[in-house]
Amino acid sequence: MLIANNEKISLDKKEAGATIDFISHAHTDHMSALSTARSILSSYQTIELIKARTSSSNLFNINLDFSELGIKLLDSGHILGASQLFYYNEQKSQSILYSGDFQMQSPFIGKRIETKNADILIIDSTYPDPEIKFEENSETKKKIQDWVLEKIETGNIFFGSYSLGKAQDIIKILNEIGIIPIVNRQTCAINRVYINFGEDLKYASVYEADSGYDEIMSKNFVGIVELGRLNSLKIELTKAYKKRAYTAVASGLTKIMKFNSDATFELSNHADFEQSIEYIEKVAPKKIFTYGTNKDRFARNLAKLGYNASPFESNELNKV
Ligand SMILES: [Zn+2]
Repeated sequence: MLIANNEKISLDKKEAGATIDFISHAHTDHMSALSTARSILSSYQTIELIKARTSSSNLFNINLDFSELGIKLLDSGHILGASQLFYYNEQKSQSILYSGDFQMQSPFIGKRIETKNADILIIDSTYPDPEIKFEENSETKKKIQDWVLEKIETGNIFFGSYSLGKAQDIIKILNEIGIIPIVNRQTCAINRVYINFGEDLKYASVYEADSGYDEIMSKNFVGIVELGRLNSLKIELTKAYKKRAYTAVASGLTKIMKFNSDATFELSNHADFEQSIEYIEKVAPKKIFTYGTNKDRFARNLAKLGYNASPFESNELNKV
C-alpha cells in the first residue's frame, strides 16, 4: 500500500484498510478491489471500460479528483487507459512510481508509455526472466497479416483472444489489410468505449445493427472469440459452414505456454525483461520493488545485474 496525505492507496489489489483503491487498467486481474472499494482511483478511460465490463454497483464511489493528493497518472502503453501512478511525497522529498502493466514498444492502439524519474520504482513482474524476448510489434503484425491473407482463401479463421486489449489490437491489424472481423457481445461493448475515446475500429457483430454482419458472414470471414471456446467453435463452425476453420492465438503467453491452435503469434502488450531494463534505466530509481506474481524471481534476476531490487511487501514503503 502507498500512503499519500493520510490516504492508504492499494495498488491493483484488494487490501484491508485501504481508503483509496488504484486500478491501473481494466483487466480483471487488476480489479479485485472493485467490489469493496470506498473510492477508486483510475483514468477516465479505465472507468468507462470497467463500466462496459461489469455491473458493479460500486462505481458511484469513483474519485476523479486526486490531484490534491500529489498524484499524477501517466500512460503505460499497455491497453486503453492503462496508467502508471506517480506520487511525490513532499515531506520526504521522495518520488514513487508504480508501473502497473506496461510496455516500452509503441502500442497498436493508444499512446506510448510516458516515463519519469523517480526515487522508488514499484515495477510489474509479468515476464521476470531474461530468456523471454518478444519480437518487434511491427514484425508480429506482418506475420499475422500474411497468415490471415493466405488462410482466408480456403477457410474461416478464428482468433482466440481476451475481449479487452488484445481483441482491439487484432481488429486494428486486420483493418489495415481490409478485413472487418466478427466479434462477440463483450468485445462489442469494449469496442464502443475505444471508439468513444477516438480510436478507429471496424468490426461486425450480430449484436450491432448495420455493421454488415450478414454480408461478411456470406464469404470466408475472421472471427475473434473467447480463448476457451476456440476449439469447440472450430468443430461447430467447420460442420456448420462445411469448410475449413483455422485457429490462432496471438498472445505473449505463447512464449511460455502451449496452445492447441493452428498458429500462434507472440503479440504482447507487456514489457519483456529487456524492455523492463530499458524502463528502469529511464526511471533511474535508487530502489526497485518488484510487484505481482513473479516478484521474487524478477527481484533475483535484477539483483544479479546489480540493481537494488527486492520483492514488494505491503508495508515496505514505510521503511524507505
Ligand atoms: Zn493487463
